[in-house]
Amino acid sequence: MRLRAVLAILLVGGCVLSTSAQTSLPEHIRAIPWERYQEEAVRLLQEYLRIDTSNPPGNELAAAEFFHRLFDQAGIPHTVYVSAPGRGNIHAILKGDGSLRPLILLNHMDVVRAESANWRVPPFSGEIVEGELYGRGALDMKDEGLLHAMVMLMAARERLPLKRDLVFLATADEEVGGTGSTWMLANHPELVRGAEYLITEGGGGLIYPEPGTIYDIGVGEKAPFWIRLTATGRGGHGSIPIADSATHRLARAMQRVVDWQTPIRLLPSVEQYFHQLARREKEPRASQFRNVRKALRDPAFVKALTQDEDYNYLLRDTISLTVLKGSEQTNVIPDTAYCELDVRLLPGQDPKAFLEQLRAVVADDQIRVEPLSPFRTPNASSTGTALYRIIEEVVHEFNPEALVVPALNSGYTESQMYRPLGISCYGFAPMEITPELDGTQHAANERVPVDQVRRGLKMLYEVVARAANE
Ligand SMILES: [Zn+2]
Repeated sequence: MRLRAVLAILLVGGCVLSTSAQTSLPEHIRAIPWERYQEEAVRLLQEYLRIDTSNPPGNELAAAEFFHRLFDQAGIPHTVYVSAPGRGNIHAILKGDGSLRPLILLNHMDVVRAESANWRVPPFSGEIVEGELYGRGALDMKDEGLLHAMVMLMAARERLPLKRDLVFLATADEEVGGTGSTWMLANHPELVRGAEYLITEGGGGLIYPEPGTIYDIGVGEKAPFWIRLTATGRGGHGSIPIADSATHRLARAMQRVVDWQTPIRLLPSVEQYFHQLARREKEPRASQFRNVRKALRDPAFVKALTQDEDYNYLLRDTISLTVLKGSEQTNVIPDTAYCELDVRLLPGQDPKAFLEQLRAVVADDQIRVEPLSPFRTPNASSTGTALYRIIEEVVHEFNPEALVVPALNSGYTESQMYRPLGISCYGFAPMEITPELDGTQHAANERVPVDQVRRGLKMLYEVVARAANE
């Protein structure tokens, strides 16, 4: 049985935040004592990183308690929802005047496990070494979670005018089963229903020596659709070959599958992505990227572009042959053999239609083609919204040289679960880091530069403050 425990619901007088004074938003932002809040953000992030929420087992309630204490002190109404022993989610809300629909700040409190032997400092020490803050979750995504909470605290204390509700939602178990968000949507859909926007992980700035900072705003994700091909046939002794044995049939089918060039499909956000990248390319590629839809009519360009692994997956549903299984013994012809495919579908692709196309490619009615994961139609958000424009604007104000691009992530994010509710979801991390540092996520020595935490707070507050008012 699932237990819903309300640890705290605090309703404080005047929690509908509206300023009586006629200050403009820029004045409001200028008047904020930034130094103090930035110090607080760094100190609190250290504290947050010291809470071990390695998943499994997660133990996210300890992290929820941490946020509970912060929101309690700031008089922000909030509720902790216990979804399983030691596990749960926390929801907090600052009410706006209701003239616009809510904005949700979504973050997960769990982190992947850390092998401390490979770390420079213990992974749950929250230590700062040479200007970098170390800890499992420093980039994925306790940094963003803490900044989401700080923005809530600041909005409450500084009485940020709000035309929409500001919602903070921190969840359990994103890294393993996604049960935190699944539980929230199943048990308390009313807390997110009706929202217009959601900001979560799946974006951020990467600083390259050349061509400079490329700043991703996550607008969509490829959806995993795992499939097993099972062949059956007559078994026997390896010394007497059977021409149409299960393994032989499977090998021929796999050949057809890996040779299959899935159709190219250009999503509007991917078209826009190439258009932006054109600014950093030399001719003739610059012109081709600027009008990639036209360039893709040329088979030579298609070939060149799709040979690049970083671009190929943006343009089509992809298939990686990953698992192979036949006989246990070299001299035994098995009566069953199977392989598994890691298929990733583009937003908008219908999994059932893809499955039919794949069956046609396999073209063998003695081979069963079965999905291993649920039918989920992948989704994406438009770049044509006010929030997208605001993020783009703010990033450029902080770094005029940065290239801001809509990103289609190859991996899954929880945005997939929230978009079907009509919410425009974006991956946005207000950080600029090197690819080397980015590579410490899920690896040893995960860390975030302290100056990025400080700058990120300001960047996120600017985004939220503007988005809350237009
Ligand atoms: Zn994450």
